[in-house]
Amino acid sequence: MPEFPYDERFNVDDLFRPVRTRSLRRLPSLLVTSAGIVREAAPKEFAATAVLQAVFTVGVAAQVLLGRKLLTVLLALGKGSSGADVIPWLIAFTTTGAVLAFSSVVRTERQRLLGELVSRHATGKVLDIASSVDLLAFETPVFHNRLQRARVNAAVRPTQMVGGALSVASAILGIVAVSFALLLIEPILLILVILAYVPLWFAVVRASRAEYRFAVEQTERDRRREHLSDVLSRRDEAAELRAFGHVRFIRSKYEDLYDERVRDLRLLVGRRTKFGFLGTFANSLLNVGAIALLSWFVTSRRLSLADAGAATGALLLLAQRLSALASGSGSLYESSLFMDDYTSFLSVHPVEADPHSSPGPSAGFDRLVARDLSFSYPSRSTPAVQNVSLTIERGQVIALVGENGSGKTTLAKILGALYAPMSGSIEWDGTAVDQLDRSMVRDTVGVIFQDFVKYLLTVRQNVTVGRIEHMDDHSRFSAAAQRASALEFLEQLDDGVDTQLGTEYAGGVGLSTGQWQRIAIARGFFRDAPFLILDEPTSSLDARSEAELFENIRQLYRGRTVLLISHRFSTVRSADQIYVMKAGRIVEHGTHDELMHEHGLYAELFMLQASAFLDEVAPECP
Ligand code: ADP
Repeated sequence: MPEFPYDERFNVDDLFRPVRTRSLRRLPSLLVTSAGIVREAAPKEFAATAVLQAVFTVGVAAQVLLGRKLLTVLLALGKGSSGADVIPWLIAFTTTGAVLAFSSVVRTERQRLLGELVSRHATGKVLDIASSVDLLAFETPVFHNRLQRARVNAAVRPTQMVGGALSVASAILGIVAVSFALLLIEPILLILVILAYVPLWFAVVRASRAEYRFAVEQTERDRRREHLSDVLSRRDEAAELRAFGHVRFIRSKYEDLYDERVRDLRLLVGRRTKFGFLGTFANSLLNVGAIALLSWFVTSRRLSLADAGAATGALLLLAQRLSALASGSGSLYESSLFMDDYTSFLSVHPVEADPHSSPGPSAGFDRLVARDLSFSYPSRSTPAVQNVSLTIERGQVIALVGENGSGKTTLAKILGALYAPMSGSIEWDGTAVDQLDRSMVRDTVGVIFQDFVKYLLTVRQNVTVGRIEHMDDHSRFSAAAQRASALEFLEQLDDGVDTQLGTEYAGGVGLSTGQWQRIAIARGFFRDAPFLILDEPTSSLDARSEAELFENIRQLYRGRTVLLISHRFSTVRSADQIYVMKAGRIVEHGTHDELMHEHGLYAELFMLQASAFLDEVAPECP
């Protein structure tokens, strides 16, 4: 049996590690990673882009050489060369120009496709991590910040990095070709123009670092702003915003956050402009020096007019190629900073089993023994669950009761193996849960969450995602919906069980909260797991549906195990064992009758609810 990989457990601290020192030394390995991602995502587009880039590079070099030849022939017109000598060079020159222009158009379009395919692939990797990482990661802002940056950068950086590398390679090839031409004419000019590149490079490195720092610093603020933007624009929040009339307040918070971003962006833009200015200023000075030197060479007759013309063309082209090299290598370097962030996010160990794997049916456990469980959320110093021990036998209905915040949901998540306890142990039939196969453990547990998910999919899909390997089992679907008292209203929908849910979509239908809850319960029943956890499953149900549901659970789950969290004592009283929680600890346990005799917290809470109910019905009683 494979090991439950708790030893490889995702460590929240991993995400607190400062992002690795950004050095140029990591650039080659990041480049290889990026090229790997791009090739994996779109092999054909990758090859086409590389070929087109090569055509472009060779074309540019050919144009320089052809241009030089054309100029020589043109200047010799009437002095040894005729119009007929010019025509072949002219044709070759213009044809190369046309090929260059055409390959550039095709390259732009193919690159767009390449970008989209790579974005899809790289974003998919981020989603794989996000959907399989330890649940606890979601309780830390660091994880959310890194997830956000990984998501944003996955869309653009790998392509940008490969694009940057290709344009750097192309620029270098172009530079080599033109340099060769210039070297033949006048080597000093070449040295000057190449020196002119150095300040450009320093400028782009500084600007890229500033950009990366800005992105890291802004992440959390951007997330806050996006949250407010969602609140202002989503369906679920729309009614409350209007009812409370606090749209302006939320809007102004949103604007404040934007103001702060724009303020920082101004500083960044200023800094980047300064670097750009200094870089291009020094670059221009050196280029002007080269032109001045060239003029001096002509006046002092060190260079012929034809060579001077060719040298001017080569100088201009070289300067242009070098500035392309500067911006290509700048974009390459900048992307490498973000790629480093992205790849280190991907290297976070996912602990969940392959979400697509479907293990065989699980038989569950005969006895679950929890000893001394404690658990704290990363953001809290006080434990949410403290030194909890309990035993659950197969076939029992166990209830957890207690006031809000007493630790019921957290304990249920630990018992359902969604959170690992920080200390203590859980054994299933004598074997520690962390020694069991993770897929088998997952397969054993079914949870109906208090804050269940409303999938904007069809009704059938909303239920059958409970056990995707049985998605096409119609009778299983009907039985689950029937038991959750959902079948009747679902069949009355216009498209029946294939109705799209969510009025945000064409043909989509809206449901009441209670109806949504019945769908969520049907999902839990469709899962049909040996250990069912119900966290406040009936909070939005009417009295009849609630009563039916609990009757169903008793019948359906005979021989299996149910853990129930509920504030309704009418549903709790028939449980085989009731555990009463307070401040993360179990303070009482027993059957309803035993706990009532104890006159403790359970009896107090029970009487409180019963008396409120009796007070209301008393006047109507005969
Ligand atoms: P109950 O289900 O009994 O209402 P919970 O298990 O949800 O209680 O919460 C137990 C304690 O843990 C409470 O003090 C609550 O504030 C805290 N808590 C719950 N969820 C989180 C969370 N995601 N992050 C930090 N603290 C939490």
